[in-house]
Amino acid sequence: MTQIYNFSAGPAMMPKAVLEQAQAELLNWQNQGTSVMEVSHRGKYFSELAAQSDKDFRELYHIPDNYKVLFLQGGARGQFAAIPMNLIGKKGKALYLNSGHWSATAAKEARNFCEIDEINITETDANGLISVVRTDFSDIAEQYDYVHYCTNETISGVEIKEIPNVGNAVLVADMSSNILSGEIDISQFGLIYAGAQKNLGPAGITIVIVREDLIGHARQATPSIWNYETQANADSMINTPPTFAWYLCALVFKHLLKEGGVKAVEARNLKKAELLYQYLDSSTFYHNYIAKPNRSVMNVTFTTNNDELNAKFVAEATQAGLQALKGHKVLGGMRASIYNAMPIEGVEALIAFMDKFAKENN
Ligand SMILES: *Cc1c(COP(=O)(O)O)cnc(C)c1O
Repeated sequence: MTQIYNFSAGPAMMPKAVLEQAQAELLNWQNQGTSVMEVSHRGKYFSELAAQSDKDFRELYHIPDNYKVLFLQGGARGQFAAIPMNLIGKKGKALYLNSGHWSATAAKEARNFCEIDEINITETDANGLISVVRTDFSDIAEQYDYVHYCTNETISGVEIKEIPNVGNAVLVADMSSNILSGEIDISQFGLIYAGAQKNLGPAGITIVIVREDLIGHARQATPSIWNYETQANADSMINTPPTFAWYLCALVFKHLLKEGGVKAVEARNLKKAELLYQYLDSSTFYHNYIAKPNRSVMNVTFTTNNDELNAKFVAEATQAGLQALKGHKVLGGMRASIYNAMPIEGVEALIAFMDKFAKENN
């Protein structure tokens, strides 16, 4: 079989070592003679796994003691609704920073629950180059119960690397596609959330990191599965959690710790992204339309500016073992998602293919 590299934006590739471990212990987990997915979430072994995964995740991401980590269901989109249900309080409204598809979708969902103001924080110049133009909201942020933004727009490949200045207001971040990709000062945030299926594990589990003082203020009608207080008090087990997905996330955390933690992973991520963007910048055949300071380390978008050639590129890349490079349907072109699990060899293979394709089709 040819070596396959999977550039899917999500669900995305998992570390091979993790899949191998899951395979090896699938039929007999912890010497119980059953798989992890067949045992009670309240039993000794799963309780230990849950506690250990919390500990490992905190260690990996340097999470301060005054934050809780919740392991929930419903994906990032579930949080689009849960956040206003839990965080809207005395001020009665929230500010949403719009930088692309996901931040706009979060704002749209929040409108069902509260009053919001929305600010566009990106601009597209005459050449089509997208850049983030505003990150300081300290003059207005305190009128709001929270300020929401998306750290990495998965579809366009726009990353906001500077944490927005919101003064003393509560900052909420959708980190679905770049959580654990690099070190970050958690204490700047009130709440961080991420669906697992990009950089943490498989689909079906959602991580919420929430500062303790923000827990316990949910509106009356909040369903208990969406209520941070009931979930925090129940160690994220008010009902049956997605045990198999949680187990795989736990293996990923152990794997990342073994690889040297987020610092080491970040260095490798920066190297991968730099290789790919350097190649794009050196090419006249391919184009990337994100301003340099806002180029995503995780999702690299590019195009030949010709729909037929783009389609040919995707088809031939697939043949060559480079999978899922088709851009999102709202944008077209190509997208290489190079999350934590993508080895540097995958990026090198992609660049070699791109170069060959450019020479053959120029
Ligand atoms: C994928 C993604 C989502 C949607 O996640 P679901 O878990 O499918 O709800 C939201 N935000 C960002 C930034 C994403 O990349």
